[in-house]
Amino acid sequence: MVDRLSALWQWVWEYLVPHGASRQQSIPGFVLDSAEYVLKSYFWFILVSLFIYFFFLRKGPRTLGGAFNHILPKKIYTHPSFKVDLSIVPLAWFLSFTVYASLTLGAGAMQLWLSSTFGPTSYSLGTGALAITLQVVFALLGADFARFLWHYQAHKVAFFWEFHKGHHSPEVLHPVLIRTHPVDMIIRLAYMQVGGGLIGGSLMYVTGVQATAAAASAMAVVGALLHILQMFEHSHIPISFGKTLDRIFYPPHFHPFHHSALIQHRDKNLGITGGLTLWDKVFGTLYIPSPGEMDEIEFGATLEERGAHNPHRSFMRFLVSPFVEAFRTLRPRQKDAALGTATLEQLAD
Ligand SMILES: [Zn+2]
Ligand SMILES: [Zn+2]
Repeated sequence: MVDRLSALWQWVWEYLVPHGASRQQSIPGFVLDSAEYVLKSYFWFILVSLFIYFFFLRKGPRTLGGAFNHILPKKIYTHPSFKVDLSIVPLAWFLSFTVYASLTLGAGAMQLWLSSTFGPTSYSLGTGALAITLQVVFALLGADFARFLWHYQAHKVAFFWEFHKGHHSPEVLHPVLIRTHPVDMIIRLAYMQVGGGLIGGSLMYVTGVQATAAAASAMAVVGALLHILQMFEHSHIPISFGKTLDRIFYPPHFHPFHHSALIQHRDKNLGITGGLTLWDKVFGTLYIPSPGEMDEIEFGATLEERGAHNPHRSFMRFLVSPFVEAFRTLRPRQKDAALGTATLEQLAD
C-alpha cells in the first residue's frame, strides 16, 4: 500500500506538479521546461477552480461550459493588457523558476557560517524530520519577512516604485504570466535570498537546527504547493482560508486588492499567499475586504494610468520607461529648484 502510494506520488510529482527546470541548460530545453511549467500550472488552476465553481460559487450556470466561461473569461484573455503580458513571457518564466529553488541554501549557508565563526551551540536538534521541517519553516519565514521589506520599499520609495509599477500596470489579472520588471525582480530576489538567508540561518543557529541537503527537496515540494496556491492571487477566483486563518496566513483573495487602482486599496496588502498577515498588520498596510468587494476593483497602477494613458501599454514602454521615470525621481523637483535659486539670490543680496 505504502509502495503504491509512493509510486503514485512519484508519478504526480513527475508529470503533474509544476517545479523547476530539469532539462539540460540549453535554450530549447529551457523553452520546453517553461512551456511545461505553464501548462502544469494552468492544469492545477483549472482543476482547483472547477472545484470552487461547482461547490462554492453561486453565480453562473452549473455546467462545464458555464464553469469554463467563468474560469477563463474571454474579456481577460482578449484584453490589450493580456497581450502585453504575453510579450513578457520569457521574463515571467525565468522568475517563476528562481523564487523557491534555493531558499534553504541561503539559510543553510548562514547557519554554517555562524557555527564556524561562533562555534556550534551546546544543544542540537540534529538532522532528523523535525530539523528538516524547522529549516524549511525558518527559510520560509525569513524569505517572507525579507520579501515584505522589499515590497514596502517598492511602494514607499519613489525610485523603486517606478520599477515595481510594472507589476501594477496590468488592467486584467490572470495566473502565471503576470508581468514584473527585471530590475524589480532582481531586487526582490536579492532581498529574499540574501535577507531571507540571514534571518532564516540565524533562527536555525539559535535553535540548534543543522543545515541539511534534504531540506532542499522538502522545500521543492512546499514551493510547488505554494506556487499552485499563489496562482490564485492573480486571478478573479477568490480563495479565503476562513475569517480567522486569513488573519494569520495571507490568503490569495487579499492580493487582487493590492492591484486595485482605487485609492482606498492603494499600497495595501503587501504580503504573499502562505506568508504571515502579521507584517501588513504591523506596518499598517492591511486591507480586509468585505464579501463581493472584489467585483468592484478597477485594476491598474492608478486610475489616471489606464487604457491609452497606461505608461506600460507596450513591451518596450514596460521595459524602458521605468529607467527614465526612476532617474527623474532623483532630480530635485522644479519647484524646489526654483526656490533654491531664489534663496541663493536673496543670500547674494
Ligand atoms: Zn506591489
Ligand atoms: Zn501581484
